[in-house]
Amino acid sequence: MYVLQKWQQSSLTARVLVGMVLGICVGLTAQIFFPESAFFTRYFSDGLFSILGQIFMACLKMLIVPLIFVSLVAGTCSLGDARSLGRLGMRTVGLYLLTTCLAITLAIMGGLLVQPGEGANLASAASFSAQAAPSLGEIVVSMFPTNPIGAMAEGNSLQIIVFALMFGLAVSAAGSRATRVVELFTGLNEAMMKLVAMVMQFAPYGVFALMGRLFFRIEFSAIANLLAYFLLVAGLLIVQLLVTYSGLLRLFAGLNPFMFLKKMESAIMFAFSTASSNATIPVSMETVNFRMGVSSRVSSFTIPLGATINMDGTAIMQGVATVFIAQAFGVPLGLSDYLTVILMATLASVGAAGVPGVGLVTLAMVLNQVGLPLEGVALILGVDRLLDMIRTAVNITGDCVVTCIVAKHEGALDESVYNDPNAMDLAVSFPEKSRDPAVG
Ligand code: ASP
Repeated sequence: MYVLQKWQQSSLTARVLVGMVLGICVGLTAQIFFPESAFFTRYFSDGLFSILGQIFMACLKMLIVPLIFVSLVAGTCSLGDARSLGRLGMRTVGLYLLTTCLAITLAIMGGLLVQPGEGANLASAASFSAQAAPSLGEIVVSMFPTNPIGAMAEGNSLQIIVFALMFGLAVSAAGSRATRVVELFTGLNEAMMKLVAMVMQFAPYGVFALMGRLFFRIEFSAIANLLAYFLLVAGLLIVQLLVTYSGLLRLFAGLNPFMFLKKMESAIMFAFSTASSNATIPVSMETVNFRMGVSSRVSSFTIPLGATINMDGTAIMQGVATVFIAQAFGVPLGLSDYLTVILMATLASVGAAGVPGVGLVTLAMVLNQVGLPLEGVALILGVDRLLDMIRTAVNITGDCVVTCIVAKHEGALDESVYNDPNAMDLAVSFPEKSRDPAVG
C-alpha cells in the first residue's frame, strides 16, 4: 500500500527510471539464471514484455505525425513572416551541421589515437554491396512532397515539415480570413500535448518491458570480443554529451550546462530505451518546452527537424567504425579519405530517419565511399544494439542543445523556467492552462 502511494506520488522521471532499472535487472537475471527457459521466453520475453513493448512503441509512433504537423503549423502561424522563418531555419541547420562535424572529427581523432582495430589482420572477401549514397541535390528534392497525405501516411518527417511550414505561412498570409484555422490548430496543438501526457503515463511500464526483453536476449560475448571498439565509441559518446554540448551551451548561449543535463534525464532515458530519435520526439518537445522554457514556435520546428537531420551520436559511431574497420582490414586511409568520411557521415545523417539501427545502414554508404570492405558492418553488428541506445540518447541531446541555443538568439527562451530546477516534470499533472511558458 505504502509502495503504491509512493509510486503514485513520485515524478514521472523517477518512475521511468525505476521501470528501466527493474527491466534491466529482470532481463539480466533471467539471462544469467534461466538462459534456456522456454517458460520465460514464451510467456515473458516473447509474451508479456513483447506485447507491452510493442504497444508502447506504437503509441509513441502514433504521436509523431500529428504532433509534427499540428505543432509546426501552429508555430509557423505565430511566427508570421517567411523572413523570420528563414533566419530560424538557417541558424538551426547551421548549428546541426556544426555539431555533426564536431562529433565525427572527435570520433576520427579518437580512432586514430586509440587504434581499436590494430592487429586484427582480417582479409576481405568483398562480397557485400551497399546502396549508393544520395547526393545533396537528391536529398533536397526529396524533401518536397508531391502528396502531403502520402508523406504523412509514410511518416516522412522532412516532407511533413516542408508542407507544414508552407501551409503555416499561407495561413498567416491569409490574415484575418484564416483566424479560425489558427484557432483550430492552436486547439489541436493543446489536445496533442494532452495526448502526449496520457501516453507518458504508460511510459514506466513500456520502458520496463522493452528493457526486460532486450537484456534477456542481449549477447555480451560479442561485446567482449570488440571491447576496444565498444568502449571507445561509448566513451566518445559520453564526451560529446558532457563536454562538447556543455561547451556549446556556454559559448553560444551563456546557459548553465548542468541545469540542462539535469532536465534531459527523462528524454535521455526514453531515447536509450527506444533507440529511436523519432519515437522520442514527443518527450524531447515536452522537455524543451516545459522544463527549459523554449517557446513551441521554435521547438516545433527544431526538434522534429533534428530527429531527422541531426545525428551526432550516429556520426561518432560511424567515425570510429570507419577507422576501426580500416585498421582491422589493414587498409590505409589518407587525409582526403577522412575528409570524405566527415562529409559522407554528415550527409548520411541528414538523409536517414531516426529509427533503431539506421546508423549501420548508412555506415555501409560511408565505407563504400572510401573503398572499405562492407563486411566491416557485420564485424560490429553484434555490439551495435547497445551502442544504438547510447548514441540515440546523444542524438536527441544534440537536438535539444541546438534548440536552446537557437531559442536564446530568437528571444524565445524563458530563462526563469530554464534556471528553475523544479520546472514542471514531464506531463505529470495534466495542467489546465496554456502549456507554453514562453508564449504565455
Ligand atoms: N537509432 C538512432 C536514432 O534513432 C539512429 C542510429 O544511429 O541508428 O537516432
